[in-house]
Amino acid sequence: MSELFDLRSDTVTRPSAGMRAAMAAAVVGDDVFGDDPTVRELEEKVASLLGKEAAIFVPTGTMANQIAIGSICGPGDELLCDRGAHIVNFEGGAVSALWGAQSIGIDSRSGRGIFTTDEVRALLRPPGHHDDVLAPRQRLLSMENTHNRGGGSVWPIEQLESVAALAHSAGLLVHLDGARIWNAQAASGVPLARIAAVADTVSVCLSKGLGTPAGSIVCTQSIRIPTLRRLRKRLGGGMRQTGVLAAAGLYALAHNLPRIADDHANAKRLAEQLARVPGLSVEPAQIETNMVFVNVERAGGSAAFKEAARKEGVLCITTGERRVRLVTHLDVARAQIDEAAARIARATATL
Ligand SMILES: *Cc1c(COP(=O)(O)O)cnc(C)c1O
Repeated sequence: MSELFDLRSDTVTRPSAGMRAAMAAAVVGDDVFGDDPTVRELEEKVASLLGKEAAIFVPTGTMANQIAIGSICGPGDELLCDRGAHIVNFEGGAVSALWGAQSIGIDSRSGRGIFTTDEVRALLRPPGHHDDVLAPRQRLLSMENTHNRGGGSVWPIEQLESVAALAHSAGLLVHLDGARIWNAQAASGVPLARIAAVADTVSVCLSKGLGTPAGSIVCTQSIRIPTLRRLRKRLGGGMRQTGVLAAAGLYALAHNLPRIADDHANAKRLAEQLARVPGLSVEPAQIETNMVFVNVERAGGSAAFKEAARKEGVLCITTGERRVRLVTHLDVARAQIDEAAARIARATATL
């Protein structure tokens, strides 16, 4: 087997030589004391890109989402999100385990994790319910953009704005899981700051399409930062000379952010080629960003497909009995996409 194409996720990217050089050269200090200039530079840079007052650097996207949620929701409180949301499906049950909050999952008609004001309105509790001893207190609405399990889908900006406005008018705060906000921006052309403006807290990941080894950020108002720093410390996320990681983030913003659209073009190209493979079904028009979800219409379904593709040197993940996910990223070049598709075609023919 020649090269391995790892399309399981955009998290598999490895730091490039340039990124490693930037990390090695980073000026550092103890960030628990607030002394790491590179961390501060990254926090200021991302806050300003997103049009927010302040930011806090954390090791993972999960910690970013969860300290944001924990700064708003406590025991017995309720948050609304869509049923497939990362915060309630892929973070180890943290919403209940860490904060004692409960969630209501919106089963959006879009099927892509993108819900409407009507779908939210149907779940809002009446005004004054905070004084009702029977009711959980609704505190938060969370949205994910792009939406991972929804297919890497992008919220239309007006819809994002109207849903957030409704939540705010009902007295809820709004969190945006923007792990892939970069992809939403690249796909829609809507500025990051306009997307982020809908939310009180926004989490973003540096280790997905941007290709750093680790690191996420929460952007919000300055007044919320001390609470976020406390929760980060409580979860064990207060790190010391993190400037080495922050330097990777600064490098990524300069070098990898401008090329995110390439991943989208590659995903589209992969989908177009896979659509012609007998036994697979994929709708290229549904590919909005860097994720390609494919239905396997062969006996053995997604598990057999995954194994056959692995033998051909292409890695993917299964997301259902018949569904697999392939993700394009920094470490798969355009020229490799055709080769990956050819290998997948060979693998499918064996099923
Ligand atoms: C990856 C991801 C996260 C964070 O994941 P970590 O692995 O903890 O960094 C959060 N939200 C979404 C939508 C994601 O895809």
